[in-house]
Amino acid sequence: NSGITAESVGMYIKDMPLCMQNLMDGLKKDHHLRYSGRQQLSLFLKGIGLNAEEALKFWQEQFTAGGVGSMTVERFNKEYRYNFRHNYGLEGGHIHYKPWDCRTILSKPAPGRNEYHGCPFRDWHRDELSFNLQKLGLADDTRLNEVLDLSEKGEYQTACTRVFELLNKDRIDDCLKKGVKIDESSIVHPNQYFDRSKYLDA
Ligand code: SF4
Repeated sequence: NSGITAESVGMYIKDMPLCMQNLMDGLKKDHHLRYSGRQQLSLFLKGIGLNAEEALKFWQEQFTAGGVGSMTVERFNKEYRYNFRHNYGLEGGHIHYKPWDCRTILSKPAPGRNEYHGCPFRDWHRDELSFNLQKLGLADDTRLNEVLDLSEKGEYQTACTRVFELLNKDRIDDCLKKGVKIDESSIVHPNQYFDRSKYLDA
């Protein structure tokens, strides 16, 4: 039991890779996500331990939070409930769907207008990526440029791994000082990014 609930999931943003932070932002902004975005984020959240009941609560709250004229609970239940239950194997073929790895995410068509799925290291322009990475706390220096260059060269996962190291430098140094082993392999899965961040808390 991860203890992650509909209420607390927002507290884990800093443990999420950029692709998932972007989906969480888009969901908050639009009170909606298109199909690919719903799949990418909901299976990731399932992977970090949000159970089916809490997930339905979370998605219903997000989709109906838009104020006047927004989606009703009734419409949510009619049009979306099945989709989220399906992702948990509670409908249809009762398949245990796994969270998407980076390769699956990168194999999907790039996001169009008002879509937030995909990998920002591939899908964002250099300036947009630079702006958002600085917003997360990276300094505008050679290390940031290195990440931007990696992204431009198509080395998205290396760029993502590098960002993890830069954003968590102090926590990683603390662990190393204490003799705690650190996994330095490349990020290949958003849930691996999350687990790696949670590991540094320990
Ligand atoms: Fe997400 Fe993978 Fe891209 Fe990182 S490299 S942002 S985990 S898809």
